[in-house]
Amino acid sequence: MSQTDPNISKQLKDKLDSLGLNAETLYDKCKAMANNLWWSWHPEIINVFRDLDPDLWRKLDHNPIALLRTYENDQEKFYDRVFELTMEGRINYAFRKLKQYMTDRPIWAKTNIGVLGARPVAYFSLEFGIHESVPIYSGGLGVLAGDHVKSASGMGVPLIAVGLFYDEGYFKQHLDSNGNQQEEYINTKIEDLPMQQVLDKDGKPLRIRIETRDGAIFARVWKIQVGRVELYLLDTDVEENEQCNRKLTSRLYGGTNEDRIRQELIVGVGGVRALRAVGINPGVFHLNEGHCAFATLEVMRDYIHEDGMSFDEAQHTVNRQTCFTTHTPVPAGHDRFNQQLMEKYLTPMSQALGVSFDQLMALGRVHPEDHNETFCMTVLGMKMARYVNGVSNLHGVVSRRMWKDLWPDRDENSAPIGHITNGVHLPSWLAGPLWNLYNRTFVPDWYDQMYLYEVWSDIYKVEPGELWETHQLLKNQLIEFVRRRVTRQCVRRNESEFSVKAAQNVLDPNALLIGFARRFATYKRATLFMDDLDWMRRICSNPEKPVQFVFAGKAHPADEPGKALIKKIAELRKDPVLGKNIVFVEDYDINVARHLVQGVDVWMNNPRRPLEASGTSGQKAVLNGVLNFSVLDGWWAEAYNGVNGFAIGNGRAHRTDDSITDARDAASLRDTLENEIIPLFYDRDVDGVPLAWVERMKNSIASLAWRFSAHRMVVDYVTKCYLPAAGNVTCDMNRR
Ligand SMILES: *Cc1c(COP(=O)(O)O)cnc(C)c1O
Repeated sequence: MSQTDPNISKQLKDKLDSLGLNAETLYDKCKAMANNLWWSWHPEIINVFRDLDPDLWRKLDHNPIALLRTYENDQEKFYDRVFELTMEGRINYAFRKLKQYMTDRPIWAKTNIGVLGARPVAYFSLEFGIHESVPIYSGGLGVLAGDHVKSASGMGVPLIAVGLFYDEGYFKQHLDSNGNQQEEYINTKIEDLPMQQVLDKDGKPLRIRIETRDGAIFARVWKIQVGRVELYLLDTDVEENEQCNRKLTSRLYGGTNEDRIRQELIVGVGGVRALRAVGINPGVFHLNEGHCAFATLEVMRDYIHEDGMSFDEAQHTVNRQTCFTTHTPVPAGHDRFNQQLMEKYLTPMSQALGVSFDQLMALGRVHPEDHNETFCMTVLGMKMARYVNGVSNLHGVVSRRMWKDLWPDRDENSAPIGHITNGVHLPSWLAGPLWNLYNRTFVPDWYDQMYLYEVWSDIYKVEPGELWETHQLLKNQLIEFVRRRVTRQCVRRNESEFSVKAAQNVLDPNALLIGFARRFATYKRATLFMDDLDWMRRICSNPEKPVQFVFAGKAHPADEPGKALIKKIAELRKDPVLGKNIVFVEDYDINVARHLVQGVDVWMNNPRRPLEASGTSGQKAVLNGVLNFSVLDGWWAEAYNGVNGFAIGNGRAHRTDDSITDARDAASLRDTLENEIIPLFYDRDVDGVPLAWVERMKNSIASLAWRFSAHRMVVDYVTKCYLPAAGNVTCDMNRR
């Protein structure tokens, strides 16, 4: 940038002003950093916030805005602390880094994003899991969206994200003394979130209006800065709305099917309108799951009304610009709406598009002529997108089989659904001590080349003892975290002093520790490990080679079978033998996930194949040298090579009888655990290092970390979807 060009420096100054990056005092610098979620993957800033007041930091869910607000009227206290710890340099350094990040353009983007620079990608998702302090996510789908956005920011992909703001988020989970899940909804304070309300041209809060047959619904719009990416969130808690509509966006995945269609109308149709209102004209629309597929109808409407296109032309144009990612092979995971609901909410849309209602319904039917078929959002997404993908190789295969009827003139294998395997955002999930180890070991610019095998194969140069020590340190940190949490759980349930004492000492750092944490959906079979309790008691209580488990996960409030599984595991607490070897940490969220994937020895996952589309928690474990022990499903089916972790089952499942599959997988789990994992873990050299185990940790890191990063995933989306959709690459990856 030229310092002499007054226009550019004014532009830069305005930009910095709008980002709050012209701050001068240390306090204002901290506030500016808290207002960009970039801080959430930068340890140097996280540590500043934590050091200000470690206890409060933890109590406030690691929320820096809430933390800084406690100093708002007493900045002297803030400065006392800053000077006491001589943090001035750290704050200035972190602030400078953020400023530089926001004004630099990454090298990768300079050569790889082409026309996306002129018209960005609009990425729609019903949930975003960016950090535990911003509770607008429930699980894997949201965390994936968050990791996608963070990686796009890091690589400089021009991408705008669109979702909903839920003031009560997803629920907080507690278990009662009998292991029953209790759901608590917390009202998030908007002033504690890094959100700015979006204003209209006149400086008044922007309102988005969405027509339904029974009147309009209004939404306001918020903006969150996630590094370089802007995330726009809509919510309907505005005075213009009738009471029943004000709570519409209060809860993620709460409510009825009717609430769901209304939320999906807001995020899809309202989301497109919000982008238009702020002057963003996307070149590509990426729909993360079917929830947001109404967006395509709104884009069509715009083409018809603004550009005079016919319905067919508009559909063709939208189709060229749209990418659709499907995320689940579980049939109930695909939203379907009946004709009555559709009429109530989409009649104005069909009129605006100039088509009959039946024609509109046909867009969401596998068999357009079948009037009994409900409207499926996944079908709409697939029909409206030029590129459709599943989220792992196997999920691609399963999705082609599942949706082949959409293309009656093709055979299953040539159904136009590809796959891009999920990946994880490395800085969000890699533990600090391992960052340091990798920095010492890998080539200096390894971070920018993390998608190369050559970078990661240097892990073989690390002394086994050093890698093991680092892991042991992280395991100890996890155990401290678990003890703190479990103690709090006991106190909350008013349990005896004896239980509280036991909780304070739960888990042995020297015993094998297996982690299992995920949504408690029945197909994930969380209780498979307790298929044979006598066996469990025997292996857990072996005095030489004990085994212990840590569990976490929520069941959807309406999922009674899922809750029953939680109860079954929680009740093992009362088992005289297993009670001290199995713990359940309540309220699984990004914070709990981060601790678990960084500190256990083994990460276990045993879904009923092929129902796990990808899974990403095991990829987080890989980065941290934790070994996967998993059914050959989702990402693990393409990751496991025999020496980089452990398999459950042999990649087969009974066609018709799940109980046969379950029994076989349970037997395989027992066999592998008892005959492979336990002996390998306890086979130590004279210094107490399990050499063969550490070798496997290295195999896992070297063979997997480069392949399953969100960095690689975003490169795949850019080259296979975004650039072709934006129109500057002629090859059409979709029509395989
Ligand atoms: C990573 C993550 C998930 C997704 O992991 P799966 O392997 O798909 O279960 C879910 N919830 C949280 C909080 C996560 O961090």
